[in-house]
Amino acid sequence: MSVKVRFAPSPTGKIHVGNVRAALLNFLFARKEGGTFMLRSDDTDQARSTKAFEDGIQTDLGWLGLTHDEFARQSERFGDYDKVSEWLKDKGFLYPCYETSDELDRKRKLQRARGLPPVYDRAALTLSDGEKAAFEAEGRKPHWRFKLSQTPVQWNDLIRGDVSVDTSAVSDPVLIREDGMYLYTLPSCIDDVDFGITHVIRGEDHVTNTATQVEIFRVLIELRGAGQVPQFAHHSLLVGADGQGLSKRLGSLSIEGMREAGIEAAAITSLLARLGTSDPVQPVPDLADLVEGFSFDKMGRAPARFDMDELATLNAKILHETPYEKVSDRLSADGVTEEIWTTVRGNVETLKDAVAWKAVIDGPVEPVIADEDRAFTTSAAALVPDAPLTDESWGALTAALKEATDRKGKGLFMPLRLALTGQPHGPDMAVMFRLIGAQKARARLLGETA
Ligand code: GLU
Repeated sequence: MSVKVRFAPSPTGKIHVGNVRAALLNFLFARKEGGTFMLRSDDTDQARSTKAFEDGIQTDLGWLGLTHDEFARQSERFGDYDKVSEWLKDKGFLYPCYETSDELDRKRKLQRARGLPPVYDRAALTLSDGEKAAFEAEGRKPHWRFKLSQTPVQWNDLIRGDVSVDTSAVSDPVLIREDGMYLYTLPSCIDDVDFGITHVIRGEDHVTNTATQVEIFRVLIELRGAGQVPQFAHHSLLVGADGQGLSKRLGSLSIEGMREAGIEAAAITSLLARLGTSDPVQPVPDLADLVEGFSFDKMGRAPARFDMDELATLNAKILHETPYEKVSDRLSADGVTEEIWTTVRGNVETLKDAVAWKAVIDGPVEPVIADEDRAFTTSAAALVPDAPLTDESWGALTAALKEATDRKGKGLFMPLRLALTGQPHGPDMAVMFRLIGAQKARARLLGETA
């Protein structure tokens, strides 16, 4: 049996670190198993779904390297959903309900007051044809619920192990709203069966849905006379560094926002693939290596902590090892050559910092010279050779200065660095000195902006 998985976002917003983790796990599992990775646009909610969000999701996934092999859009399959729901209605699996949301609210409040779980009481199942007709005459339109078996549903979850959910503790799910709109549940099951999805990998917030969906799957397989209930893997959800849920902050954790902030795709995939697993979080620039090491067995059930600082650190670590050919297309337009990149990459947090270092080389730079260092940097300026600088020039200059003054170590090097680059930290001065060149170096050591 060949593996087929899907990532099924609703194009009603941008993807963020929370939901892209499901995409990554699906992708890694598919690649590891030599299977198929489908991207499915769950756009049944036509009022909230947009093409722009759908395109944005594709852009973000492509940027992360999570390329899909197949694509499907639910809004193109309403005909299939209609056929299935007619059959479900005929067979009594879908039954019409006429309660308004206020009425349902009241029922739930009463149940709670009596200490009962707020499970739908199935009152609609006992409506006579006359009562239904009376509601229709009032202008009420039914919403449709799926009749659950009210028995335990069990599955062996690839992450959570044996799971059992008693569907008598769950309300019969509404599959079709009164305006005729399909909620995600039924189309998702129909698609999973029709597209031959073998494994459903998604967040643990879907565990209860899975119980109801297993029942729907069984009915659909009977209708189709073929198909299989997929296997399930429910991963834990991300929490913030403070241990609190991320849901309220996800707006600021979009993949697009991270890309714009200079986070590398590989930093995101390295972190999300390893969070909450028994593997250490470390730079894994190549997705193929994440594929190689992927296993559900390594995934824990505890919530995984997402820390923006950890992502930033990982981002820097990845850039520090990135060869020029991997970033040249994003750097060459700004004149950052291979030599500059190799010199400065150990001092960047994002790629933009390389452009900033190029600006330090090119100038103008406002030198930073403390009063007590002015005489020292002035004598350094006099020692800058007239000839073009070489890799040895810096060593020669600092050796001569050491000889001529009683300075050494930080007292010798820091005033030079501050004067030449305007900053207390940065790349190897031997190369920076040569790249800055004699003329600008002399001027900066004299305190001139150059
Ligand atoms: N569209 C659903 C969601 O975004 C898909 C969940 C699933 O993977 O089945 O929650």
